[in-house]
Amino acid sequence: MEQKNIPPKNISPKYISKASLKAWLAKVKDDGRHIYAPVTENGKTNFKRVKSVDEISMAHIQTAQSAKGAVFPRTEKLFSYARQQGDVALQDYNPGDIPDTVVFGLHPCDAAAFKALSGIFNWGAQDKPFSERMQRVTLVGVSCSRSDVFCFCTSVGGHPGSAEGSDILLTAIGDDGYLVEIITDRGQALVEKSADLFEAAAGISKEEHLASAPARFSVEEVQRKMAGSFESDIWKKQSARCIGCGACAFVCPACACFDIQENAKGNGTGDRIRCWDSCGFSLFTLHTSGHNPRSVQSQRWRQRLLHKLCYMPDRLSVRGCTGCGRCSRACPVDMNLAEHLKEFERL
Ligand code: SF4
Ligand code: SF4
Repeated sequence: MEQKNIPPKNISPKYISKASLKAWLAKVKDDGRHIYAPVTENGKTNFKRVKSVDEISMAHIQTAQSAKGAVFPRTEKLFSYARQQGDVALQDYNPGDIPDTVVFGLHPCDAAAFKALSGIFNWGAQDKPFSERMQRVTLVGVSCSRSDVFCFCTSVGGHPGSAEGSDILLTAIGDDGYLVEIITDRGQALVEKSADLFEAAAGISKEEHLASAPARFSVEEVQRKMAGSFESDIWKKQSARCIGCGACAFVCPACACFDIQENAKGNGTGDRIRCWDSCGFSLFTLHTSGHNPRSVQSQRWRQRLLHKLCYMPDRLSVRGCTGCGRCSRACPVDMNLAEHLKEFERL
C-alpha cells in the first residue's frame, strides 16, 4: 500500500540557503538515490536524471515535459518471456530494479498530478510497477514564483504554493534561499540526512513570494455544465482544428493512457512493454472488428475533457487536470484548454 502524504507531527517550517540546498542534494545523491530535476539543454528545460546537482536549472516557468516519467515511464518492460520445451517461461517485473528516487524542482501542479495518477493506477486493481515506483519516490516541490498566460492551477483547485502531493515544498525567499515545508514522513526522513543544513525559519511567510494566478473560471460550474453537454455541438466547435497529434497527452502530468506492445525477438523470446498512448489518437479506441466508437476527433476531444473533469472526480475523487498549461503551450494549432473550459461556464 502507498504511504504517501503522512503528515509528520508538529514540524515547523525551516530555511535553507542556496549553497546548503546544493550540499543537501549532493548528499542525497551520494547516498545512492537517483535525482530527477529540471535541466536546460538546447533552450528546453526538462526533468532528467542528473549526474551532478550543478546541472539543475530553476530559471523556467514550466518544464516542457512533466515529471510523471519518474513513476510512469514513457516505455517500460512489464515482463519477459521465453519458449522452453513446449512451454513458456515468464520472467516477471523485478521491483528490486527500481532505484530510490528524488524528484526535485517540480511545481505544485505537477506534484498534485501524482495524486491523479495514483487514482488511475489504483482504480480497482493496484498497478504493481506504478505502485512500486511510488513507494520509492520522494517529491521535493518548489512553489511557483512566476506564472504565464497558460497557467490556470487556481481555476482547478490548485495554488502556486500548494503542498498537495509534495513530500517537501520549497519556496524561494528572495535570491538567497528557500523556506522549507516538510509535508510527509518521507520528506522528514530526507531532511534528517543533513539536518544541520536547515535553519529555523521563524517569521518567514511565503505568500508574498508566490506567483499571482487569479482563478479564471469556476471549475464546479464548468464540471456541472460539461456533464450535461454530451450531445452539445461545443465539442465539434472546439476540436475543429485539432489534428489529433497527441502532444497534449504526452506533455500532460495527469494523462495515463497507455498501450501494451510485444517486443518479440524472433527466437521464441521477447518482452511485453507498456508505452504512453493518447485517447486523442483514432487507433487508441479502434476495435479488432474495425469498429471505432470514437471515430472522429470531436468524440475523442469530448472523452479527454469528460474523463479529466467529470469521470475522474466522480470515480476517483480527483481531477485529471491540475492547470499546468502544458497542453496549451505544446499544441501546434493553438488550442487553449483554459479558454475552452471557460466556454462551458458560459453555456
Ligand atoms: S490537461 Fe493540460 S493543463 Fe491540465 S494538467 Fe494536463 S497538460 Fe496540464
Ligand atoms: S496538442 Fe492540440 S492538435 Fe494535438 S491532439 Fe492536443 S489539442 Fe489536438
